[in-house]
Amino acid sequence: MQEVLNQLKELSNNLYWTWNNDFLALMEEINKDFWKWSSKNPVKFFEAIDKQYLFDVIEKNNLRYKIYNLYRDYRKYLKSQDTYFEKKYYKTDKPEICYLSAEYGLTKSLKFYSGGLGTLSGDHLKSASDLGIPLVAVGLAYSHGYFRQIITEDNKQSELFELSDFNSMPMKLVLDEEYRPRKISIDLPGRKLYAQIWELNVGRIKLYLLDTFVDENTVDDKRITDILYGGDIEKRILQEILLGIGGMRVLETLGIEPKAFHINEGHSAFLTFERIKNKINADGISFVKAKDICYYSNIFTTHTPVPAGIDIFPRWMVEKYLGAYASEELKVDFNTLFNEGSNLYGQSQGDYFNMAYLAINNSNFINGVSKLHGEISRKMWKLPESRSQIDSITNGVHTKTYLSWVSEKIYSKNFGKDWIDVDNIWQKISELPDEELWNLRNQNRKKLVEFVRGRIIDKVKLLHESEEQIAEAKKLLDENALTIGFARRFATYKRGTLILRDIERLQKLLEDKNRKIQLIFSGKAHPKDEGGKHFISEILKFARTNGFKKNIVFLDNYDMEVAKRLVSGCDVWLNNPRRPLEASGTSGMKTIANGGLNFSILDGWWVEGYAENTGWKINSLENEAGYSDDQINEFESKSLYDTLENRIIPMFFERNESGIPVKWVNMIRGSISKLAPVFNTGRMVKEYHEKFYSKVK
Ligand SMILES: *Cc1c(COP(=O)(O)O)cnc(C)c1O
Repeated sequence: MQEVLNQLKELSNNLYWTWNNDFLALMEEINKDFWKWSSKNPVKFFEAIDKQYLFDVIEKNNLRYKIYNLYRDYRKYLKSQDTYFEKKYYKTDKPEICYLSAEYGLTKSLKFYSGGLGTLSGDHLKSASDLGIPLVAVGLAYSHGYFRQIITEDNKQSELFELSDFNSMPMKLVLDEEYRPRKISIDLPGRKLYAQIWELNVGRIKLYLLDTFVDENTVDDKRITDILYGGDIEKRILQEILLGIGGMRVLETLGIEPKAFHINEGHSAFLTFERIKNKINADGISFVKAKDICYYSNIFTTHTPVPAGIDIFPRWMVEKYLGAYASEELKVDFNTLFNEGSNLYGQSQGDYFNMAYLAINNSNFINGVSKLHGEISRKMWKLPESRSQIDSITNGVHTKTYLSWVSEKIYSKNFGKDWIDVDNIWQKISELPDEELWNLRNQNRKKLVEFVRGRIIDKVKLLHESEEQIAEAKKLLDENALTIGFARRFATYKRGTLILRDIERLQKLLEDKNRKIQLIFSGKAHPKDEGGKHFISEILKFARTNGFKKNIVFLDNYDMEVAKRLVSGCDVWLNNPRRPLEASGTSGMKTIANGGLNFSILDGWWVEGYAENTGWKINSLENEAGYSDDQINEFESKSLYDTLENRIIPMFFERNESGIPVKWVNMIRGSISKLAPVFNTGRMVKEYHEKFYSKVK
């Protein structure tokens, strides 16, 4: 039995389990309530569970063999020499690419992410692992992470920041020979800032996260890594100095010498200075020479099409923190350093330092995250012809992370356990019989309805509300209704309330007893975004209107778990951002392999994904053509309602004699066969490798 426990613990400590549905099912089988109690964190689960109880369950349910198989598959995965990289390139144990990001979304219990940027970074690492790319990643370990959202009785969002106990999470402190935490340090005005280093295993990939909660630091400095995107901009610059400069020192401390550096969004761009410093010291050359050399091995991915989305810092602040660094480390006057972030080939930020400028000035490779976003970025930052131009690599998602257990079972039943490696698998899945694909949808939708009811019941019980309310929650939603999902961060440009613009028109659709539809919303607004919070209130007010309580739900605390449930259960995934503000968007990609269909403005990735037989579009207008915001919202919401009324709803309810909506199923076929092979991070990371990483000498 001890051996079984050791295997379970080893499995728990590698985030490989986050995309292994069999492991997740095993945890539920051992004890579903306890799994929930642990926030779906297996390290905490196995630490806290009574061992005798565990052994009894394993015996009683005959789980030994299952666990052994999981363990064997995991070891095989780690050791495989059959990876894309090793087959196409060579064998190496040394990381060659360093990836840096301010957030990582790996699983719900590791609260180091707030939204799409984080899940993208997490998915990047997972796919790099699958492909065998020699990559190492660096980020920050936020003790309180991003907030837990609680929806109050008066229809408001309230925010709770909860302390994470890193010691019972799938992460370990990096220790020195004497078992003391290894630390890096950075000189700040009048003090040194220290940080310890946590190591996480994401399959084959190592992720190092910096944490300033150490004894040597002042109270304020300890709090540099407390929360994600909180506090004032002075805290932000400290976080970014830690990520960029501190991140490079982590590599140095651990003896890792990558050849390429991937700056995923501007937050980590200070690394360019630290690399220049290291080059100056190693080769005894000038700042300009060192900069020229380092330039060729930096890669910058931009994620926002609006200048206001980029971090800028006032001159005095940069001088306060990097003034001495310029003169003592880089051996240049402060203006030279400042110029890197305030001047972009003649475009000037005046007295401000722009992190994107810094990254662009120092990166040979630059890309936007969809074709359209690439175009917008080329207009936003006009670069001289003499240098490399802004390219684009369209985002993806790590398919298995968002694939439901139901979908996975159907795929493995038809194509075997290693179905995902079968040639042309998405084409083959799309050729499954009507009954099978429709069954996939029905089961996924049913699971979602159960999940939503369960969540609402839990909340009702927590608030000691009445039996009546519990009974009501059990009747929420309908497992056969056309289920439309809208879930993402409530940034105002994403217009969470667009579908509420013409309440009467929406009401008619919701009241139709013959063609039942239901709406599920979820999403957090940034604590300081009053506009986004107002949108949440609007939806809640509408959802709580009598008559609609049953078919409109707002699920609180959107996170990776809720996302996985929603993208698998919803039939239609709605996205209505203001074009062209959605650089890519990824949640819609998560629904594809689960048989959900996209209904979206032609923005971000959907410009590339949309076709007559892959989903639906919402027509859009732009300010540039002279339209006001109100005209745009009016026009686009009309297109949204028209498409729902005339195309989506009729197609869903047009059934053959076996009760199957044949046209709908064909649409799923188009979506799976055309989109699933493209909009995944396997394709995306390969593209990064072939276009950028492998070009760095
Ligand atoms: C995928 C995901 C996002 C990103 O969704 P978008 O459609 O790109 O806005 C945000 N939050 C969570 C929890 C996600 O899983």
